[in-house]
Amino acid sequence: MKEKRLKKWFLETKRDFPWRREKTPYRVWVSEVMLQQTVAKAVIPYFERWMKTFPDIESLAKADELEVLKLWEGLGYYSRAKRLHQGAKQIVKDHKSKLPETLEELQKLEGLGDYTSAAILCFGFHKKAAAVDGNVMRVVSRLLRIKCNITQARTKKLIKEYVFDKLPEKEPHITMEAFIELGATVCRPFPNCGKCPLRLDCQAFANKDPEKFPIKPKREQPKRIEREVFVFLCRNHILVKIEEDKKKVMGHLVEFPYKEKEDKSPIWTCLLKHSEKTYLPLKPVTQTFTRYRAKLTANLYRVNVMPNYKGLKWLSLEELKLYPFSSGHRKILQQLNL
Ligand code: SF4
Repeated sequence: MKEKRLKKWFLETKRDFPWRREKTPYRVWVSEVMLQQTVAKAVIPYFERWMKTFPDIESLAKADELEVLKLWEGLGYYSRAKRLHQGAKQIVKDHKSKLPETLEELQKLEGLGDYTSAAILCFGFHKKAAAVDGNVMRVVSRLLRIKCNITQARTKKLIKEYVFDKLPEKEPHITMEAFIELGATVCRPFPNCGKCPLRLDCQAFANKDPEKFPIKPKREQPKRIEREVFVFLCRNHILVKIEEDKKKVMGHLVEFPYKEKEDKSPIWTCLLKHSEKTYLPLKPVTQTFTRYRAKLTANLYRVNVMPNYKGLKWLSLEELKLYPFSSGHRKILQQLNL
């Protein structure tokens, strides 16, 4: 039977990750959130640090949001960290510090969508649940040669039902993880069918056209914008902007003052008047957020006074270490070698 072949292949070839060594519902939750939009190798040091700092739901719920974001710094998409933090608080308050064991209750938690809830249920509690991510969608769309748009709700439903049906009553989590692993390592956008345990059952392989699947609508290109970033350094202090509104994308994150390239408002002339004539251009960096791709061109200015500017704050280099930077501005900070 093909599921048995898949399970056998997985048990023989699976990659070793810290979240696979010891599985608890909490560790599954954290790893699944970290693995969204980030490759597994990059997640490893973050996961290990996180587990040392917040070994359980209570310690995460008690933490200050700044500490949570600082630990996440570099992983990007900070809203994921905020949702974990909010979710932990909710679990302590409403579920006696334990992740609930039903799909319905899990989905009521902050930021837990279909996939993460099913993954917690399946990998954390070993219950039968179809955790269908992009990898699984790709595998199944090729196995069945699905000619419908993969982003449509009814196609997703069909794939979920197919996967659920293939999960055995005994150890469903192993087969589920095997589907995910197959998509992540073999049935990749350019598949390595020669190594696939399911090739004899795969319709796309039989038709020699796996790369045509899954069928997706064309992705909208991110809007390109250019920003000029000002790094003002004065007696071991740096001028920064801290977004106080927690609900905003950059909420609680630190950035240097910046302007859109086309912005000619006089505030920037005012800001620059205290700087010395010389400045140091830094290497441009790119930052992707929501539907934008920003090119950040930064200059380092050495200034001799620290005036107050509305919405901006001078932080000492020591204080700076406590704050999480947005990903693009962090790349600029790293160039300063402070
Ligand atoms: Fe994917 Fe190829 Fe395996 Fe089909 S045979 S599931 S296309 S890797």
